Amino acid sequence: MSNYRITAIEDVLERAPKALETPSRKISEYYGDHAFTLSAMREYLTEEAYDHVVSAMQDGIRIDRKIADQVASALKEWAMARGATHYTHWFQPLTGSTAEKHDSFIQPDGRGGAIERFDGSLLVQQEPDASSFPNGGIRSTFEARGYTLWDPSSPPFLMGQTLCIPTIFIAYTGQSLDNKVPLLKALTAVDKAATEVCQYFDKNVTKVVATLGWEQEYFLVDKALYNARPDLAQSGRALIGAAPAKGQQLDDNYFGSIPPRVMAFMQDFECEAHKLGIPVTTRHNEVAPNQFEVAPVFEEANLANDHNLLLMDLLENVAIRHDFRVLVHEKPFAGLNGSGKHNNWSLGTNTGVNLLKPGVNPKTNLRFLTFFVNTIAAIHRHADVLRAAIAGAGNDHRLGANEAPPAIISAFIGSKLTELLDAVEKNVSAGKMSPDEKTAVKLEIGRIPEVMLDNTDRNRTSPFAFTGNKFEFRAVGSSANCAVPMTVLNTIMAQQLSEFKTAVDGRIAKGDKKDEALLKEIQKLIKESKAIRFEGNGYGEEWVKEAAKRGLSNLMDTPSALSVWERKETVALFEEVGVLTAEEISARTEVELENYVMKLQIEARVLGDMVTNQVLPAVMDYQSDLLANIQGFMDVFGDHAADGMTTAQRNILEGLSVGLSAAYSSVEMLRTERCKINEVEDMKARAEGYAAVVKPLMDEVRVQVDQLEKLTEDSRWPFPKLRELLFTR
Ligand code: ADP
Ligand code: MG
Repeated sequence: MSNYRITAIEDVLERAPKALETPSRKISEYYGDHAFTLSAMREYLTEEAYDHVVSAMQDGIRIDRKIADQVASALKEWAMARGATHYTHWFQPLTGSTAEKHDSFIQPDGRGGAIERFDGSLLVQQEPDASSFPNGGIRSTFEARGYTLWDPSSPPFLMGQTLCIPTIFIAYTGQSLDNKVPLLKALTAVDKAATEVCQYFDKNVTKVVATLGWEQEYFLVDKALYNARPDLAQSGRALIGAAPAKGQQLDDNYFGSIPPRVMAFMQDFECEAHKLGIPVTTRHNEVAPNQFEVAPVFEEANLANDHNLLLMDLLENVAIRHDFRVLVHEKPFAGLNGSGKHNNWSLGTNTGVNLLKPGVNPKTNLRFLTFFVNTIAAIHRHADVLRAAIAGAGNDHRLGANEAPPAIISAFIGSKLTELLDAVEKNVSAGKMSPDEKTAVKLEIGRIPEVMLDNTDRNRTSPFAFTGNKFEFRAVGSSANCAVPMTVLNTIMAQQLSEFKTAVDGRIAKGDKKDEALLKEIQKLIKESKAIRFEGNGYGEEWVKEAAKRGLSNLMDTPSALSVWERKETVALFEEVGVLTAEEISARTEVELENYVMKLQIEARVLGDMVTNQVLPAVMDYQSDLLANIQGFMDVFGDHAADGMTTAQRNILEGLSVGLSAAYSSVEMLRTERCKINEVEDMKARAEGYAAVVKPLMDEVRVQVDQLEKLTEDSRWPFPKLRELLFTR
């Protein structure tokens, strides 16, 4: 039997260590060179076209055909000067990743030659044959038309020789078929609602943008070892594999020195990212062996999200150049930390103010308190929708697994802000406020700057934590498209802020002074949303009980989390804010459920094949050798004497036989049950079947196989072991 594992390990050991190249240029010299940024536009566009594009970017003003032609021609010139031959509309279908279909600039000239052509109509709109993208039933195949439309708020960029134009993707009926449209709508809604609330404090605020700073975690494994593991190659995670003796228990990896081979990879992809104008700055080792993180400086949320998706592509492409493969799965290795993608989020004004940054004077303090408390209130009211936004087969392994945020959504704010909210709750009376009360509240609010000093008071176990000047949504999975959680967060904020505005205006109309009206409304929200605040250990068993008492949900798996989308309140929320229609929501839910089923189905099939085709035969082979060995002893020494001399062989053989039968029957059971569940028509019921039956059976198979791995002679084991995947360099 050929053993891919042994060959793969030899490959890794033979890799010539690459010398680390010292970059010859300053980053600032090539930063943004591959993106059609504002400065490129200044150079290539007429002033008129430039102004149009800038207003389209900032205020969503439509670009007319004449300007589009000018932009297209400038884009072509810019891209061809950098070697581009093709262009593509780059979009985000509901698969969760990105899609592209390349077309050449070439147009035959009718005389046997060709010219390069790219005009406004090609820039603005395309009709990809999109019938095989998931649509949840929105488009019947006979009307499979979908359109991609240019999103001028995110700059076009170059990937190799292709000019990529960020676009939205919609059906011919106008319904969204992607993750970008709802995000853009939510961002517009939160802009409007937050700007109106800002008017209480500063009339100069005319625009509010949501900001996003993501932190991308990932694992690296050598390409050869990856290729010898069908589970990694096909499902992104190790479905079997005994835990290595040394995992992460020594805590020697976190922030440890970065191995040279990995460093060379990081420098390479960071350079590519910088050329694309992705402001990556942070890199470090993570908790688990071979786990790393990259984070940029935050940006406007739509742009930041495009940049994250682009970076995930880059990671893959550059990794291959370095003989690595990247795993962005939420839990590639059982027993080791999983990977997340913290979403740092805030709101910033056109006047340069971060609305979640504690203020320096009473007025700015009250503004901070307003936005801060409204965020908590929105999270409290829609915690389940936030949970639904991060649901997925991969994240199910991570949430609530005692090393990642629990599946229960709660908010951590730190002790100083807790004191402040308590004081506001106590000292603001329902009727006219007394001078003493006013002084007490003012004093408390005056202490807000201390919060800045308090921001070391971090609670790593909270899924949604205030970290001094922003909230950090930590439960987002590493493979996720941030557009989904960002859509939800900004939608619930938009609704909350606009209701807040109505309530405060109502109080003012009844005679309250502005500050008093604001404080009373803030107090009301503090009281109502108390249950969502939790400062303790989110990983603990007590929290699960406490949360249940508080009436907070603990939606442990994807099918139950996804059911939140279909609730009346959820649909009402998205329709009211104008982000998704009932039909779009139900289409998305269907796509997500199917996606979940497909992922588990692939895993179960890969696992079945690995066990039946490789593990069981390898074990049987070893058994035969042991049997021959025992027989040999019997032939030479006689049955009786051989008995005592072959204790080890017999015990191992017995262990293997027990394990073999157990593994065989669990795999058979897995196959039978999976086939039964596949017959279930209703997608929700099928997904529930996968969660309740298939997943636990896969765990059972794994226990048996990992036991066999420990008993089987090393050179026969067919797959790279976890210690090899994680420690062979
Ligand atoms: P940690 O790992 O300690 O949470 P990092 O420095 O890795 O911190 O990440 C913090 C992230 O938060 C960075 O991406 C940073 O740009 C982002 N961030 C900082 N301020 C804001 C803000 N106002 N809005 C959104 N993100 C922000
Ligand atoms: Mg963080």
